[in-house]
Amino acid sequence: MIKINENFLKLQSSYLFAEIKNRTTAFQKAYPDRELIKLGIGDVTRPLPPACIQAFHRAVDDMSDTKTFRGYGPEQGYKFLREKIAEIDFRARGADVSPDEIFISDGAKCDNGNIQEIFSRDIKVAIPDPVYPVYVDTNVMAGRTGSYHDGRYERIVYLEGNRENGFIPSLPAEKVDLIYLCFPNNPSGAAISKSKLKEWVDFARENKAVILYDAAYESFIRNDELPKSIFEIEGAREVAIEFRSFSKTAGFTGIRCAFTVVPKSCVAYTGGGEKQPLHALWYRRQSTKFNGVSYPVQRAAEAAYSEEGKAQTKALIDYYLKNAALIRRDMTALGFDCIGGENSPYIWIDGKSDSWEFFDRLLEKAGVVCTPGAGFGKCGEGYIRISAFNNYENVEKAMARIREALQ
Ligand code: PLP
Repeated sequence: MIKINENFLKLQSSYLFAEIKNRTTAFQKAYPDRELIKLGIGDVTRPLPPACIQAFHRAVDDMSDTKTFRGYGPEQGYKFLREKIAEIDFRARGADVSPDEIFISDGAKCDNGNIQEIFSRDIKVAIPDPVYPVYVDTNVMAGRTGSYHDGRYERIVYLEGNRENGFIPSLPAEKVDLIYLCFPNNPSGAAISKSKLKEWVDFARENKAVILYDAAYESFIRNDELPKSIFEIEGAREVAIEFRSFSKTAGFTGIRCAFTVVPKSCVAYTGGGEKQPLHALWYRRQSTKFNGVSYPVQRAAEAAYSEEGKAQTKALIDYYLKNAALIRRDMTALGFDCIGGENSPYIWIDGKSDSWEFFDRLLEKAGVVCTPGAGFGKCGEGYIRISAFNNYENVEKAMARIREALQ
């Protein structure tokens, strides 16, 4: 009799998005003439930068000629892309990262989900609450947790975000081995300072732990005092792995390109206490289970680093940040406490009521769809997330309706 991995049965069904869909469908059925504006999604809406499109076309043409055709690419990704990333994303900001520490992939979601395979099953994992649900669910699948009670899995150490700490969690009181951090955060939009991030790096060094740093939204950071990479922090190279993505930076959610940085000096330990470089393990994992991102996609990603590509991607992010500023300004004027929206596409709003109650109020009174915070963890209860990924005209219209409904 074939048996299943019963850890999958512990997973909570994806209640959040299914329930949002149910409620919006019911609303549309009841009021077919009312137009809905969706400010709930975490997907981009603007087209790719022209520099990326042109490079993409040229690379497709390369595939039509024997002289320029490419088959399987190098295991970690093409050097032309890894060199640009190392230079522009890291070294230009004083972060010591070399091209051979970069692994190109088809998504930060897969990398965040797959990375836990290189760690033992019996480690203690610390995960922020609220946060992107992939970190929790992949550890549940791997059997690192007990069962689910009252919004929490047994054996996970939850790093709580709340109004008092501005959704920048404090260090855990107990020893942990693997720490997930996500800044700017999804869903709270909170961005961490260098001094706070240094506390985490020091904690990891003292505890022989590893930090998994998800910087998928780094391109939204406009305050130059804030770190875009954990490798801007002294001592991080021994204890951190960083995840980045072109999804939000350059509108690649449908194209798929991301990368993970595993410094050669980052280590974990064998059962006997011997140091083991994680770069070698991740290289082995990726070269066994993954066959790379297509050549045209890597050329398109490379184009984001050209002079025109940089200007165009900056303009793209500026567009969403303008939406975010409008949402934040209006919600604050209506008397709501807001986090995020300044160095992030997400505005996290204290609804002063149950998350779903506030969701229903915005839906029914304003015809605007947001995301209830409770879907991102127990600490998200009472909050909603509004996303800046939309056209400016729609955001203006949505905010006018919200102002009218809630004033
Ligand atoms: N990390 C965070 C925090 C995200 O919010 C998302 C997408 O919403 C991802 C990673 C996924 O990125 P990718 O499109 O590269 O898989």
